[in-house]
Parts: sequence; C-alpha cells; structure tokens
Amino acid sequence: MRPTGNLHLGNYFGALKNFIRLQDNYDCYFFIADYHMLTTHPNPSDVQQNVKTILCEYLACGLDPEKATIYVQSSVPEVCELYMYLNMITYVGELQRVAAFKEKVRQNPNNVNAGLLTYPTLMAADILLHRATKVPVGKDQQQHLEMTRDFAERFNKLYKTDYFPLPQAFNFEGELVKIPSLDGNGKMSKSYGEQATIYLIDEGNVLKKKIMRAKTDEGPKEKNSTKPVEIENLFSLLKLVSTPQIVQQFEDAYNDCSIRYGDMKKQLLEDMNVFLTPFRERIKELSANDDYLNKVIAMGADKARESAIKTIKDVRSIIGFRA
Ligand code: ADP
Repeated sequence: MRPTGNLHLGNYFGALKNFIRLQDNYDCYFFIADYHMLTTHPNPSDVQQNVKTILCEYLACGLDPEKATIYVQSSVPEVCELYMYLNMITYVGELQRVAAFKEKVRQNPNNVNAGLLTYPTLMAADILLHRATKVPVGKDQQQHLEMTRDFAERFNKLYKTDYFPLPQAFNFEGELVKIPSLDGNGKMSKSYGEQATIYLIDEGNVLKKKIMRAKTDEGPKEKNSTKPVEIENLFSLLKLVSTPQIVQQFEDAYNDCSIRYGDMKKQLLEDMNVFLTPFRERIKELSANDDYLNKVIAMGADKARESAIKTIKDVRSIIGFRA
C-alpha cells in the first residue's frame, strides 16, 4: 500500500485481513509502496513519517515480521530494474485504457506524469519480483492483477520460458470484496471522500460524525422492497462489525418498514468502536517504539532483497545479459 494516509476499512477487509491469514501458511511478502507515492510529489520530510504510519498500522493489524517479510519498497531498488524490463514489453495504449489512470487524469489533468501511466508496470514488478502466485487485494485491483498476468505471460512467451507464475487475485472467502463508502458513492477510499471513509484510527466524535451523517433515504414505503445503494452500503458495513443476529434484526425492520436509520447508525457506531478499539491501542503503542520499527524495516529489507536479487539475476540471464 502507498504510505499516503492511514489504513481504512477497505484496506483492512480487502487486503490486510487476507494477508494475516496467508502469513501462517505461505511465504509472504508485504511492502509499503513508497516509490508509487512519488506520482504525487510528496514533501521529503513527510515521506519517512508516512512510511512509519503505515508500518505501525500493518503491525497493529497483525502482520508478523517473524512469519512474513515486511519491507519498504525503496529499500529494494531491484524492483526498478524489473519495472524497466516490463515497460519494454508494455504498450502505451493498454496503460492509457486502465480505469484508475483515466480517473487520475480526470482528477488531476495538470499532473499526468509517466510514473502515473506506468503505475501498473511498477505494480506488476512488485508482484513478479518475488514470483508471487497469490495476491490478496480488493475488487478494485482486479484489473491491475489481470495486467500483471498479461505482462508475465508476455515475458514468458517472448523469452520462451515459464519463469514467471501467473499471479491470481485472492480472497479467503472466494469472492474479492468491495467495501462501500458512507456516502453511497462507490468504494471506500482515501482518495475521495474523507468524510465517507472510516479509518482504523478513527475514534470519538470523528467516527460518530461520519456514521451519523452517512447518507440514507426516507425509509422503505413498501414491505420487502429493494434497498437503494446507500442503504445497502450501510447494511454491508454493519455486516462487517456486528453479529448476524443484529444484522437480521435490522433486515427484518427494513422489510416490515419499521426501520429507524438513527437506531441502526447508533448500533453501527457502537459495534464499530468495539471493532476498532484494539487496533487504535496497538497503533499508539507501536508508534512509540521506533527501535522496534527500525528493526522490522531492516529485517524486511534483508529478506526481500535476497529474493529480489535472485529474480533479477535470473531475469538478466533470460534476457541475454550477463547475469
Ligand atoms: P494505494 O494506497 O496503493 O492506492 P489503496 O489504498 O487504493 O492502495 O488500496 C490498497 C489495498 O486495499 C488494495 O489491495 C485494495 O484492493 C484494497 N482496497 C482499498 N479500498 C478498498 C475497498 N473499498 N474495498 C476493498 N478493498 C479495498
């Protein structure tokens, strides 16, 4: 993940929750994408701090540096070499068609840099650098994963090899998830709608305001009617943090038109607080422990570079360079 803010519920349920389950059974690599962050030209003094924030939040979610390799992207510069090789086999047209690129161009027409265009090849390099087979992501990243598979396949074909496995987007529940935003508009995301995004560190009045202001309608007029998207979203969020019994109780109330959204939001707030409190506490503890965080970063860099150096050596030899 790019260190450009705090982790939100979408990051947790789309990616982190699956990472944590994977680390017990697989050789896992998780990283903080600080090269990717440069597309938006961050202030140098913020870079370090942003990396620390995300690292604390990763660890607070349960990523374990003893089980998995957790590293900062810029401590493994080998990824840049693979990124360059992949750019050589990538068509400008296919990059221009990427939904996320088109959206960024729409949002920031004055900053359409080449890094933004080639974001998917760097992302593919991140994945292929460790010859990954499974990538835990949310539904929003499906297109990037498909591209990574295309690049891997293209490389394999060009050089008549099966060196790169074709990585699959992965979720333990089977389906990739999309956590909705609180305003009824698309996915929860730090890029749009601060007020519609619940962060793992949100608490007190901040959290209360976000939930109580979530968009709703006037309520169902007919029994068993289909829910409008903003109400469906509220139910989706309730399902993440409340018991099935509580969810059923509000489903029944919706279906017989007796639902009061104020009550549902109060319940969501209460259960969200119970869910988020342990994260917040761990994040606070970890942020005060720079020695430990630095140790985690150094350990991750060593492990990740070992794997990266091996891949680059192999790739150079496949391409025909002296390895
Ligand atoms: P970046 O910081 O690189 O832009 P994002 O914050 O967009 O990354 O996403 C990081 C991870 O969180 C990705 O695996 C993405 O699929 C997942 N994710 C982000 N938002 C959501 C969401 N609303 N629902 C499900 N997964 C999400």
